[in-house]
Amino acid sequence: MERVYNFSAGPSMLPLEVLQRAQSELVSYGTSGMSVMEMSHRSKDYEAIIQTAEADLRTLMAIPDSYTVLFLQGGASLQFDMIPMNLMTGSKKADFVVTGQWAKRAVEEALKFGTANVVASSADKVFNYIPDLDSKTFSKDADYFHITLNNTIYGTRFTKLPEVGNIPLVADMSSSILAEQVDITKFGLLYAGAQKNLGPAGVTVVIIRNDLIGHEPENTPSMLSYAIHAKDKSMFNTPPTYAIYVMGLVFKWMLERGGVAVMQKINEKKAAILYNYLDNSKLFRGTVAKKDRSLMNIPFVLPTEELNEKFIKLAKQAGFVNLKGHRTVGGMRASIYNAMPVEGVHALVDFMDKFEGREFEK
Ligand SMILES: *Cc1c(COP(=O)(O)O)cnc(C)c1O
Repeated sequence: MERVYNFSAGPSMLPLEVLQRAQSELVSYGTSGMSVMEMSHRSKDYEAIIQTAEADLRTLMAIPDSYTVLFLQGGASLQFDMIPMNLMTGSKKADFVVTGQWAKRAVEEALKFGTANVVASSADKVFNYIPDLDSKTFSKDADYFHITLNNTIYGTRFTKLPEVGNIPLVADMSSSILAEQVDITKFGLLYAGAQKNLGPAGVTVVIIRNDLIGHEPENTPSMLSYAIHAKDKSMFNTPPTYAIYVMGLVFKWMLERGGVAVMQKINEKKAAILYNYLDNSKLFRGTVAKKDRSLMNIPFVLPTEELNEKFIKLAKQAGFVNLKGHRTVGGMRASIYNAMPVEGVHALVDFMDKFEGREFEK
């Protein structure tokens, strides 16, 4: 069967070259005579896999030695708890910008450990913009300041980081890691579930400034302590070995293409193709404030629910799948992560244009 254009928000498409490489090595990896799935995580072969993955991520994101890279489990969702457990240990207060469901979840979990101060929210307009921030509302003594860098469901992103001074900035970058360049040194902690832009579900990347490690209370469960995972180099227990291996292949794929700067250019080009079309269409409409538009997740709507449904159905028949928007937004959402080629976006826009033409002929 032919592959479709998969616009899923996550788990999402992977580069074909990566899948084919994994396929070619599936049964026997290198000279090991076994699959990566069957290997001891303490073996020489696997050590090389995980160490290379970390080194390649450090290269891609220019991560300085003053930061530790962890490959954990539990998804971004477990980070909603691990972050307050490990970082909410001074004033037990943290500031949050609520720009969507994931940000809300981060607040709800943090409330179990301390005070979560919401400094701004865009809930009033179904999160279709990034709210302006007033530093006067920030807690002077917060243990950290949390944002969701790219809002997967609503299709917004921070194009400018909040000015938080010495307070560690913590960012959920699940749906934008490696999509555009970021200055790691502006952050105290960054985290991302892999299944949007990095690889298969099962591994979560945490990048944490070294001085933020080791402040958790003594009764913190070992599996939830950054210090323990850092000390054991993500090998305190069995890591998600195969997911890390495939993620490592994605890192190599990106490096071969010139790294994040090159991916960013391509991502900007892909997003512009779709946004330009939406801005000029008489039928389709983007739902997000222009200044805050995501490069990765692009929600859009047709004038009626019937047309949305019709479009999604016809698109699926034509090989454009997973375009249905999140239930809280409705309409459509095209997630165009790094693995989506420019041709995929061109093909989608051509299809939308034909759909629009046919509707107007009636
Ligand atoms: C998908 C997503 C999450 C949840 O990730 P899980 O790995 O399912 O826990 C959290 N934050 C953002 C921004 C996401 O896109």
